[in-house]
Amino acid sequence: MKAMVFSEKADLSSQMLTLFRNTFEMDLYTTSNENLLNFGAKNVFKLTGNNLYVDNISEKLAEMYKNNGYDIIIIGSSAMGREISSLLSEILHLEAITEVMKIEPKDGIIATERFFYGGKTVIREESEAKIFTVLPGLVDPQPVNSSSTENNISIDKDSAIKVVDQIEKPKSSVNLEKADIIVSAGRGIGKKEGLAVIQQLADVLHGEVGGSRPVCLDYHWLSEERQVGLSGKRVKPKVYVACGISGQVQHIAGMRGSRMVIAINKDKNAPIFNECDYGIVGDLYAVIPKLIEAMKK
Ligand SMILES: Cc1cc2nc3c(=O)[nH]c(=O)nc-3n(C[C@H](O)[C@H](O)[C@H](O)COP(=O)(O)OP(=O)(O)OC[C@H]3O[C@@H](n4cnc5c(N)ncnc54)[C@H](O)[C@@H]3O)c2cc1C
Repeated sequence: MKAMVFSEKADLSSQMLTLFRNTFEMDLYTTSNENLLNFGAKNVFKLTGNNLYVDNISEKLAEMYKNNGYDIIIIGSSAMGREISSLLSEILHLEAITEVMKIEPKDGIIATERFFYGGKTVIREESEAKIFTVLPGLVDPQPVNSSSTENNISIDKDSAIKVVDQIEKPKSSVNLEKADIIVSAGRGIGKKEGLAVIQQLADVLHGEVGGSRPVCLDYHWLSEERQVGLSGKRVKPKVYVACGISGQVQHIAGMRGSRMVIAINKDKNAPIFNECDYGIVGDLYAVIPKLIEAMKK
């Protein structure tokens, strides 16, 4: 089967090419300037031009889809990727399934897997959908020895989208992926002020503070760049201390590379205790001060 793959992001492009290289013959379409020729695509099409907005990119991808005999379209799930997938679905009258983790062809139809019930289960579906957005961070990109053929496609069309202002994103203050020690806060801290005790433990251990999705994304107690998990950062510290984190699969996906995991949770049945090397059952507000005291000795 022949797949058209698109992402504007280099990391997501190389992840998808790694993930599906044994399943599909793939051509990559991208607006990234990075070298993506060594990840197993047959062709890499670089989209260039002054108006590389979702409307123009979608129209060009739709044209290439119709003219090049692709069986399916695989798009990296980003804000731009999700918008392009819905536009392509409309232009080409094709069904789309979003946020998938697996795409497997099976007797002319496609089987996919994605999270369901807010991430509590994984649903496996078989459908005639042709467009799929793929979650980021499912694999580490692995280069291959061969090289793709490089092609340029220039898009010189007016766009219905006009940029009226550009606001610079604040510079990242932390690189969790490089940290040796991470102390992470979960919803179990109960309130933003609870971060003080997490920070104290991180300071004593000379580590960084991370967090689960509720703490970073839902409550904004920590910045998004500190979120660990499937939709956050994949971390590989020597020591990962999970405080008040239940251990849902999406969080574990981000911390699985940790060399040693220590969990503090007041619920002895919390799933995090199946994923840790050392588990402490107790209230984090009682346990952490004692750990800090012991550490200081
Ligand atoms: C597509 C998708 C992507 C996702 N990506 C991510 C991701 O990247 N990262 C992520 O973290 N989640 C992610 N999630 C959410 C994930 O499913 C969980 O909802 C989330 O990880 C739960 O966070 P938590 O463990 O902090 O909170 P909870 O599950 O609410 O757990 C809180 C824990 O704290 C304990 N606790 C409470 N009070 C105390 C106390 N005083 N002392 C000690 N323990 C206490 C409780 O026993 C409980 O186990 C994603 C979900 C979906 C659907």
